[in-house]
Amino acid sequence: MSEDSKNLLIINNISYGLTLSGSYKKVFFSPKFYSENQERFFKDLYHSFKCTNNLEWKDYIEDVDVSAVLCWDSDEEKKVFEEKMINYQNRLFEDIEFDFTDSFSNFRKKAEKKLPPSYSHAIYPQSDLVMKEIEYYFDEKKLAKSYFETRNGLVGRDFSTKFSAYLSCGALDVKYLYNRVKEFEKNHIKNKSTSWIIFELLWREFFYWHYQKLTTKYFSEYGLKGSLDFSRFKDYEFDELRELPVHNFFYAALNELEETGYLSNRVRQIFASIWLNDLNLNWRSGAFLFERTLVDYDVYSNYGNWMYLAGVGGDPRGRRYFNVEKQLDMYDPDRVYMKKWL
Ligand SMILES: Cc1cc2nc3c(=O)[nH]c(=O)nc-3n(C[C@H](O)[C@H](O)[C@H](O)COP(=O)(O)OP(=O)(O)OC[C@H]3O[C@@H](n4cnc5c(N)ncnc54)[C@H](O)[C@@H]3O)c2cc1C
Repeated sequence: MSEDSKNLLIINNISYGLTLSGSYKKVFFSPKFYSENQERFFKDLYHSFKCTNNLEWKDYIEDVDVSAVLCWDSDEEKKVFEEKMINYQNRLFEDIEFDFTDSFSNFRKKAEKKLPPSYSHAIYPQSDLVMKEIEYYFDEKKLAKSYFETRNGLVGRDFSTKFSAYLSCGALDVKYLYNRVKEFEKNHIKNKSTSWIIFELLWREFFYWHYQKLTTKYFSEYGLKGSLDFSRFKDYEFDELRELPVHNFFYAALNELEETGYLSNRVRQIFASIWLNDLNLNWRSGAFLFERTLVDYDVYSNYGNWMYLAGVGGDPRGRRYFNVEKQLDMYDPDRVYMKKWL
């Protein structure tokens, strides 16, 4: 069979699209579900959690080179692949009415109506490590009561939940986490902080459903604002980025990312703003850097947030700009973050 009668599936790797797309009948993009750091740090969790799909996916394509490309000849083959890869999505909803033009606020309205008082089929964490973190957050320190006030922090364990890595690798069921927030509201306090945790989980959910509608556009230059274009993509090394003349905050964030695989939400936003506005780099290259390195890499949240900040997602406000000095004055007034990571 000649190549141009085959379909080509590209696992999240935009650069392959450029060189190979001409030779195939149709090219599809599909999310890659884990980063290098997730694989490194969560090896044991991946093995212990029954629904995780990443290892199976690797087995399935073991005789296909480059870990990113798969060709298939029939819909049946594609179906088998997708079922193996997308068998566990760890979402709040099995299905929800979603239009690709839905903004987050439209989605939120629909979603909030569907949220139950609690989920009866939530999966109890299989790992002691995850359970310990849940108990620390909700029972020991009762941090959920002040999440709203602390969530923009830059340094330390307690300013946000730090559950993202466990959610992303499937070791923590988002429905179980939701139940714990609801339980906390019953047993301790229901306030803006507790509802804001759920609000954030709805963002996570939003990007997932958004992707289900937009698929390939999530990896394209213009996102949902234009035609498909997979060109102008570059994979940057950390050292190369350190050479760029820019605000010191950028280097601090690079150091934190390289060392820990984690950045707070606020740091991710400022970092992305520098990337897009000050350095004028391609948003998909930034997303790819995060994809390679984040310990909580989640294809939907990562590409969705980048797309949103780059102004090519569903946000009517367009590209977002953050003034770094102002942000530091607000969120790092004593420059603790800067001193720690520079
Ligand atoms: C450019 C950029 C890239 C990002 N890439 C990822 C990614 O690959 N994986 C990922 O899980 N999150 C991503 N986020 C969202 C957010 O930064 C992280 O979820 C959060 O910092 C993780 O820390 P936490 O668990 O303590 O979050 P908390 O503040 O405690 O929030 C609770 C949970 O809500 C969800 N959440 C919070 N904020 C967001 C958001 N903006 N979008 C989607 N879900 C959210 C996460 O599941 C998080 O664990 C990204 C944000 C930006 C700006």
